[in-house]
Amino acid sequence: MAEFKQRLTTGLVAMPGTSMQYHTGGWRTYKAVISQEKCIGCKRCADSCPDGAPFECAHDGKKKKFCINYDYCKGCGVCAYECPVDAIEMVVEEK
Ligand code: SF4
Ligand code: SF4
Repeated sequence: MAEFKQRLTTGLVAMPGTSMQYHTGGWRTYKAVISQEKCIGCKRCADSCPDGAPFECAHDGKKKKFCINYDYCKGCGVCAYECPVDAIEMVVEEK
């Protein structure tokens, strides 16, 4: 394992279980924005996001609601593609 770690090049690969250390939100030019009115709480965005950015942030009594942790949203758009009710919009990041 030590030899494997020495061969790793920063920025190309990461060891398993270390993704929390990498704040990929700094990469994005677009960000995912969830409409709380449209969200039906299916969790598909959280299950499909490569960076684990969507999380359950509320419950309206009937349905879970999801939000985005922008420290980790890199703007890839997978969640917006997967959302069955088009509750996620990709908007240009304002920096
Ligand atoms: S995929 Fe869409 S509807 Fe499902 S939890 Fe995410 S935002 Fe809500
Ligand atoms: S845009 Fe990509 S990184 Fe951001 S929440 Fe959606 S799937 Fe995750």
